[in-house]
Amino acid sequence: MRSGFKQVPDQRAENVTISLPDALMSGFALFSLKDPSLLAFDRRRTTDNNLQRIYGIGQVPSDTQMRIILDDVEPRGIRPVFQAALRRLEGSKELDKFRFLGDSYLVSLDGTGYFRSQTIHCPSCLQKVNKRTGEVTYYHQLMGAVIIHPNRREVIPLMPEPILKQDGESKNDCERNAAKRFLVQLKQDYPHLSFTITEDALSPNGPHIRELMRHGFHYILGVKEGDHEYLFEQVALARQEGRTTEFEQREGGVVHRFSFINQVPLNKSNPELLVNFVEYWETKKGKTRHFSWVTDFTIVKLNALAIMHGGRARWKVENETFNTLKNQGYHFEHNFGHGEKNLCVVFAVLMMLAFLVDQVQQLACELFQAVLNKKGSKRSLWEEMRALFHTFELQSMTQLFQAILYGFKGQITILAPP
Ligand SMILES: [Zn+2]
Repeated sequence: MRSGFKQVPDQRAENVTISLPDALMSGFALFSLKDPSLLAFDRRRTTDNNLQRIYGIGQVPSDTQMRIILDDVEPRGIRPVFQAALRRLEGSKELDKFRFLGDSYLVSLDGTGYFRSQTIHCPSCLQKVNKRTGEVTYYHQLMGAVIIHPNRREVIPLMPEPILKQDGESKNDCERNAAKRFLVQLKQDYPHLSFTITEDALSPNGPHIRELMRHGFHYILGVKEGDHEYLFEQVALARQEGRTTEFEQREGGVVHRFSFINQVPLNKSNPELLVNFVEYWETKKGKTRHFSWVTDFTIVKLNALAIMHGGRARWKVENETFNTLKNQGYHFEHNFGHGEKNLCVVFAVLMMLAFLVDQVQQLACELFQAVLNKKGSKRSLWEEMRALFHTFELQSMTQLFQAILYGFKGQITILAPP
């Protein structure tokens, strides 16, 4: 992280007391330690030398200094840090654990809100006006994106795309425009990787699918009968004429029933845009659930199960990402500082980086896996980390985790005034 932060452009004048990497690394440490507020982090400045040793921060900024410095950072400048992390995962073969249908990686994207206020705002705040009272609510949303795999709990977050005021009037427009920018960036950042984009039922319209195809991405997109009447009519017709393939697969106590057809028109206005369609029923303990997707993968009996799992894994962007950030100690919806330019967005991006590092450790670090297992929950692991961090002089994060795992003998050194 630290070497990545050295690449982030510094817009400030030359004679500054705190370097930009120190400020960024301090923001990262705030989220890595899951401090509940910037004030709590600020208290560490005078008591913990651990910030210097473990996070390699030269000079720790005060809460006010951190806000001022980070407010000026262009969020896009942090993008290479995400790229560098993914390169490391590729190099160490850890990314291979996420391979899906051959050599592709599933990417799930979705919008979420993380800040809301009636008074605090900045130029990039979205705004909602209450028609009755005229009261304005300011809020921030971002398009989060994670690499997922149906069989893995961990997710690999990619650089999120802020949703901006200019993105449109409706929620759907905003999300679509941010998704568009995200896809352009994704292609640009990782031209050598193959991605399969999975999204919910809002996304499958002609222009969006053409956009995905233009970038060379695969897709598995949820569709609903209500939103895609024409498509479902065509499929019903094909079923009557015996042109669909129907089959069942049993796995333990679960019955998977599939019905699929390749090369059907998506809708009336895009008759030349052909998609492959799969409908799926899962029966488990007498209960049946129903899903359907369109995809560019040619569906055969052999890959229908994998496509279904890929489509359903979409939820990991909510369950394993946003919900973890909101409920497992990350304080995603806390206002750490809003700033006048970029601060609110920069903090969200730094939090995503801290989450990325935690997920990579969960994926690939046996020591981290062992301490998480011992503590039983992320919240209590973060709590113990903070307690030790505050109490002992530690040399490294490894030493901190080892102390949690194997136990330690405390030593009190009283520093009474002379
Ligand atoms: Zn704002």
